[in-house]
Amino acid sequence: MGLSEYIVMRELNHPDINNFARYQQLGGWAAYANALKTQTPADIVEVVKAAGLRGRGGAGFPTGVKWGFLPRHVFPRYLLCNCDESEPGTFNNHQIIDRNPHQMIEGVALSAYAIEANTAYIYMRGEFAGAALTLERAIAEAYQAGFLGKNILGTGYDLDMYVHRGAGAYICGEETALMESLEGKIGQPRLKPPFPAVAGLYGKPTIINNVETLANVPLIVERGVEWYRSYGTEKSPGTKCFSLSGHVNRPGNYELPFGVPLRELIESPEYGGGMRGGRPVKIIIPGGASAPWLTAKHLDTHLDYEGVAAAGSMLGSGAVIVLNDTVKAPHLAYKMDEFFKHESCGKCTPCREGNHWLVKVLHRIAVDGHAHPEDIPTLHGIYNQMAGNCFCLLGESAVMPIKSALQLFPEEFEAVIAASGHSIEEMHGKAGTPLKRTRGRFG
Ligand code: SF4
Repeated sequence: MGLSEYIVMRELNHPDINNFARYQQLGGWAAYANALKTQTPADIVEVVKAAGLRGRGGAGFPTGVKWGFLPRHVFPRYLLCNCDESEPGTFNNHQIIDRNPHQMIEGVALSAYAIEANTAYIYMRGEFAGAALTLERAIAEAYQAGFLGKNILGTGYDLDMYVHRGAGAYICGEETALMESLEGKIGQPRLKPPFPAVAGLYGKPTIINNVETLANVPLIVERGVEWYRSYGTEKSPGTKCFSLSGHVNRPGNYELPFGVPLRELIESPEYGGGMRGGRPVKIIIPGGASAPWLTAKHLDTHLDYEGVAAAGSMLGSGAVIVLNDTVKAPHLAYKMDEFFKHESCGKCTPCREGNHWLVKVLHRIAVDGHAHPEDIPTLHGIYNQMAGNCFCLLGESAVMPIKSALQLFPEEFEAVIAASGHSIEEMHGKAGTPLKRTRGRFG
């Protein structure tokens, strides 16, 4: 089910594809130049809408529909490219920028034209210092060639593009926290509504799209809807750049059509190459750390938004983490929730306190190897009080690892309790009485 040609990872076999002249020689920048001369912004919006391009940052929301939410006749407008890629297991944005920055820059420029924005910001995760330099150099080349700046290619269209490096906070990948950070404030989420399309950066209409999403736009515009829809499924058209990691033989980024079976991604010699040492698959996290876990019985799940949802998880950023039977569920939940605790911005109590207590209890179980029968209902109680009560999705995401671990592998928690000298009767007596749910505080 491999691709005969790539979309977001096109021409990566050319080592100098990051160079403006080479990218242009291989057909790059043509879609943008033609669009500026022959198509209206509304034409581009319609093409992207008809192609069914869905946001690759996690939510999978249709990009053209999102663009359509901009209020008419309100200017200035901004396009923000979200390159804060920080989800554990996700590393495809980084590769797109490092290897072929012009593909994304052209996508940003085309999308800015489509939404009638004259300013675009690329918000980079702080640690991506090298990628930021690559991008700045590529943007400078585009200015020099007359593809950015004033009166681009004599069409009267103006576009300025800036790279902004954050300070390495995961929360700044949340679109409203990203805008706060860009405005020079603390990176904490804003209350929605108003949504960014209506009142975003500096209170103006703003569209925020992910790197991979925008890197799709040039080829969609150049080759059309039918060509794009020949890849993937009806509801999830196109391709996805899956970041495959964990205990596979060949971790890496693999661009494949949506709908490819999970088993093929993991086992095919062209992609994952099977499990290291032939050990069995135990846990699969199909969409980054925020996604509910799957197991070996889900290997025939199709990797598209609908297929993964039907299996009980979410495709998210397409970061597929595959772990073998040496991994203990309590320890994995501990490591994941430690990440969320560290990255919690502290704005709301359920996330700030909930993560603190989840990690505290999980550390005792998974690292110290001591557990009380009360720990299981305590963990259920904490995540139940977080779920649905957090200000933004980070807090909601932190619930997934512990909830998955307790649902799929309760015996691994019980084993630690038993090893700590507690009887089965004591364990079941306590574990069967989850804490009462209270809203807004931990009782
Ligand atoms: Fe901040 Fe967490 Fe609350 Fe989001 S859920 S606002 S990250 S404290």
